[in-house]
Amino acid sequence: MSGYVKPEFVVLLIMMVPGVIGGWLAANRARNVVGWCILCALFPVFLLVIYFNKPLREVPGKFRQCPTCREFLKWRDTTCKYCGSDLPSGG
Ligand SMILES: [Zn+2]
Repeated sequence: MSGYVKPEFVVLLIMMVPGVIGGWLAANRARNVVGWCILCALFPVFLLVIYFNKPLREVPGKFRQCPTCREFLKWRDTTCKYCGSDLPSGG
């Protein structure tokens, strides 16, 4: 182990920052975490794209997901407007 840090390693670390953020944003939106992580690491501008993507994951008080067809509905909906199945009570 030496104190010398390879430039490639530094670049990798710098690329990891938007990658991790992109992956985290993708996770919150039920997106492909690995795919967005790589995409944002290579092209940080995609952070904006994923940031402004509408959430695809259940967000308490805002969105819920139909367990039958996986479509996203408003939190207050009690019946899925896509497949017509009853939704379990969200509390
Ligand atoms: Zn449904």
